[in-house]
Amino acid sequence: MKFNENYLKLKESYLFSDIARRVNAFAAAHPDKKVLRMGIGDVTLPLAPAVVEAMQKAVAEMGDKATFRGYGPEQGYDFLREAVRADYARRGVTLAADEIFVSDGAKSDVGNILDLFDVSNAVLIPDPVYPVYVDTNVMAGRRVLFADATRENGFLPMPDEKVEADIIYLCSPNNPTGAAYSVEQLRRWVEYANARGAVILYDAAYERFVAEQGLARSIFEVEGAKTCAIEFCSLSKTAGFTGTRCGYTVVPHALKRGGISCNKLWLRRQTTKFNGVAYIVQRGAEAVFTPAGQAQIEANLAVYRRNAQRLSACLDDLGIFYTGGKNSPYIWMQCPGGMDSWKFFDYLLEEANVVGTPGSGFGKNGEGFFRLTAFASEEATEEAAGRIRKLLGR
Ligand SMILES: *Cc1c(COP(=O)(O)O)cnc(C)c1O
Repeated sequence: MKFNENYLKLKESYLFSDIARRVNAFAAAHPDKKVLRMGIGDVTLPLAPAVVEAMQKAVAEMGDKATFRGYGPEQGYDFLREAVRADYARRGVTLAADEIFVSDGAKSDVGNILDLFDVSNAVLIPDPVYPVYVDTNVMAGRRVLFADATRENGFLPMPDEKVEADIIYLCSPNNPTGAAYSVEQLRRWVEYANARGAVILYDAAYERFVAEQGLARSIFEVEGAKTCAIEFCSLSKTAGFTGTRCGYTVVPHALKRGGISCNKLWLRRQTTKFNGVAYIVQRGAEAVFTPAGQAQIEANLAVYRRNAQRLSACLDDLGIFYTGGKNSPYIWMQCPGGMDSWKFFDYLLEEANVVGTPGSGFGKNGEGFFRLTAFASEEATEEAAGRIRKLLGR
């Protein structure tokens, strides 16, 4: 017996444990200081009442012989696929219900989709980005190329004709930089992928945060994307489902290579290795797309948007370069005074008792940058912005 030794090639991730260790040491040495955590990558507001009500009703159905349900369709119940299809239609994107696959979240699908692709494919991944893309490809033993996201390109790398990529990851709005592609910019990626016969894996986990005109919420807003893109969506950040678990992935029928349908392969993969999302959770997810559910999740998103605005306004006043904030719960700021990411982490913790995330933890181009998040309470965010203003404004 031999293990998959690709796992030994994974870099240990010490980022969040290092942060916790430094914060705990600081708190132990200064029990009188109130530490504000602006580094959280998880939502903090509860599920919408419409979602809770729908799930309670579903629980009751499951407890009644007349309405009990056992195994469901692996790719999701029709009621939810139809609700997602109608949501896309309202935004001008026409999909068939069987192009939508309900999942237990974007992270699982982003990793699992790799089952469909040969190990010889070259993968292009932006740097810095959500670490799951790199790690899942390293586990499979696939070659990874990086697309540099830097201050110069506004943290939005564009296709380079000289780079021969087969699988391309795009995350927009991006975690950690908050930068979001316009429809026009995505058009260039779609042209590049179609010309090469490559596939784009488009992570739209933060699509609901897009506020500005001209920016894309879906890659399918670009004509031609259906022949080259798969889109991953999640209710985690948009509707507070991080602990409830539901997302959906769009695999268009038009995505084919060598006459093979990607949609058919994914259906085969999911029906073989996945048992679907709990009926109760899918009923909760369906409620997100009702008028009441939409209004309720928008009220929560408005809180996060106001928090992002508070942090952005503070950096604007200080004249510090940053991306994100407007179309994302993340603010990606340049560390002041040429500090590196960890130096600034310690400085902010010790002098302002505010915790963020060092950018270097998301890739080499993250060095010298720092991520703040809008997921804390309004009170804590207001106070943190005030402390940052005071510390860096002097
Ligand atoms: C949080 C996050 C996800 C995870 O979504 P789940 O649906 O909770 O698995 C996916 N992609 C990015 C970029 C994220 O930040």
